[in-house]
Amino acid sequence: MLKIGCHLSSSAGYLAMGKDAEKIDANTFAFFTRNPRGGSAKAINETDVARFLEFAAENGISGLVAHSPYTLNPCSAKPELRDFAKRTMADDLCRLEYTPGNFYNFHPGSHTGQGEDIGISQCAEMLNEILPLSQTTTVLIETMAGKGSEIGKTFEQIAKIISMVENKSKIGVCLDTCHVWDGGYDIVNDLDGVLTQFDKTIGLENLKAVHLNDSLNPCGAHKDRHAKIGEGYIGKDAICRVINHEALHSLPFILETPNDEAGYAREIAMLREAYKY
Ligand code: FE
Ligand code: FE
Ligand code: ZN
Repeated sequence: MLKIGCHLSSSAGYLAMGKDAEKIDANTFAFFTRNPRGGSAKAINETDVARFLEFAAENGISGLVAHSPYTLNPCSAKPELRDFAKRTMADDLCRLEYTPGNFYNFHPGSHTGQGEDIGISQCAEMLNEILPLSQTTTVLIETMAGKGSEIGKTFEQIAKIISMVENKSKIGVCLDTCHVWDGGYDIVNDLDGVLTQFDKTIGLENLKAVHLNDSLNPCGAHKDRHAKIGEGYIGKDAICRVINHEALHSLPFILETPNDEAGYAREIAMLREAYKY
């Protein structure tokens, strides 16, 4: 069965997210571990988590992909901002142990003028400090569109980060279709070629989740503006080839398209219909 869901609001807690997922026929989902702009996290309500875990088991919900606050910058030129990213992510990983065995994806950051190599090593250094804490959660580096000084816009850069990480069993990659497209990888005309390149550089065994988004911009635009499935330059057919690709079809797919609940329900139904496995 297609493992698919979307980004859900965590403001009403875990059980509420489980029920929201079930309502729109999602069997996985993504959520922000705290205010997406950083800030302090709400204390974990253990009763709520226990009820959620039971609900998730009953309804076949698994492979959650928590998202770190998008303002964190693990490779900022400012040491206090790097430190903030590290402390926040370490805290998130502790909290995620209440829902063990899932994924935590993050943006590798923007080097803010320090240069790509320094950005890459600062990101890897941070991972080496926080990964021993991760226990059962796999941390996923997200492929980025290459806006501004973002690192992670090429498979080579991501492979370099991973090569510097000591605890490789706890690290993986989340491929965002809008971001790789904006980064210059033509998944519309050459999905096989892009995945072969991914395999040669990063290794497909490290690919653990997919963010499924259309893009408002052409390939290589480095813009990062998501569109609804079928309303952007990637198009519905290419997105359907992604979910049906032999190397991808069993991964969790997360929609981050600009939608309300009804819109997500429609996209999920449409993709379930197109799924061939
Ligand atoms: Fe992201
Ligand atoms: Fe994404
Ligand atoms: Zn994006």
